[in-house]
Amino acid sequence: MKFKRSVKCSAKFATKHKKQQLKKILVEYGKVCNFFIEYFWNTEIPSKSKLLKNIVDLPKENTWLSAALRQIAAREAIDMIQAVKQRWKDKPNKIKMPIHKGKRMLVSSTVANLQPSKDSTFDAWLHLSSIGNKVIIDIPIKYHKQFNKWNTKGKRLNSYIITNDYIQFSFEIEVESKKTSGKMIGIDTGIKALASTSGGKQFGKDVGKHIEKIKRCKHGSKNQKSRRNGLKQYINETVKEVISEDIRLIVVEKLNNLNHKTKFKRRLNKNIRRSLGIWNYRYWLTRLKQATEINRISFRSVLPYYTSQRCPKCGHIERRNRKKEVFRCLKCDHSENADVNAATNILQRFLQGSYGILYGNCLPQQATNLKNLIY
Ligand SMILES: [Zn+2]
Repeated sequence: MKFKRSVKCSAKFATKHKKQQLKKILVEYGKVCNFFIEYFWNTEIPSKSKLLKNIVDLPKENTWLSAALRQIAAREAIDMIQAVKQRWKDKPNKIKMPIHKGKRMLVSSTVANLQPSKDSTFDAWLHLSSIGNKVIIDIPIKYHKQFNKWNTKGKRLNSYIITNDYIQFSFEIEVESKKTSGKMIGIDTGIKALASTSGGKQFGKDVGKHIEKIKRCKHGSKNQKSRRNGLKQYINETVKEVISEDIRLIVVEKLNNLNHKTKFKRRLNKNIRRSLGIWNYRYWLTRLKQATEINRISFRSVLPYYTSQRCPKCGHIERRNRKKEVFRCLKCDHSENADVNAATNILQRFLQGSYGILYGNCLPQQATNLKNLIY
């Protein structure tokens, strides 16, 4: 199994002159990119591997960029067009021609190479050549903890995102295949506890306090910024706690269905918009997912409908089953902490679905001794 990680290193160690040069390149790159976007916008887009010289040379007279960089720009133009078309595929009238702002470029070894430094002032130089106009720039780079971590664990790829402020490196990390033994848990995300698991545990119970503190700060203040970092730190620690147990599968509620159907949206809305905030929710799920990758844990998601109203024991769904923090089934009297109950439904939904069978745990539709069957 392979996964990718990216790390940013500051470009602030470059001299003023180099920074100006870099800015000029990015602006020119953006210009050429926009030329290609306009060119491809109303035509049939060629495949990226078939960008022949005649296309790459189209803006030749009006730019000093090299053929290598013009080709990269043409590819990015294609990616940008396809991204907007994909994003609005259900609402074609919303599609607008994208514009490259000249603030970043993604380059590969044809124009950029990371070379180790010979003296100790910096760790490496990002050597940019074949840019055009005989420009060559070496940007000094200092590594940091995160860079070293992934550089040791994985293989650095020869592709770089370059902006005026930082260089982004990417790594490919290879791990053994996913675990086949360990607990399977559903996780409900909320404000009372960041994570409530189907096993009856709750992690991150202070998340609400952290969010309250942020809300009390003046918007945009230094204080608020530091409290936000505090919350991120708290989320990271909670992720560690959750995955410290021997787990093989984690199931959460699907997030990318937010603009799908209002019925499904309602429950997530309650949790996210009112209390956690969409950004915190996203951050938490991203961190959790990343942690599962390196720990060889399977990570799955299910649609979030009725997870708070359904009884996992008898399957009865009723809004009045839930009263604030407590779930009590009006049909069979099964009772449980409301968030833990939702987590159990989340896990059940996955295991009973078409992929659940792969986990060798075919639950009956109405599990009676749930706690014994799943963790
Ligand atoms: Zn019931």
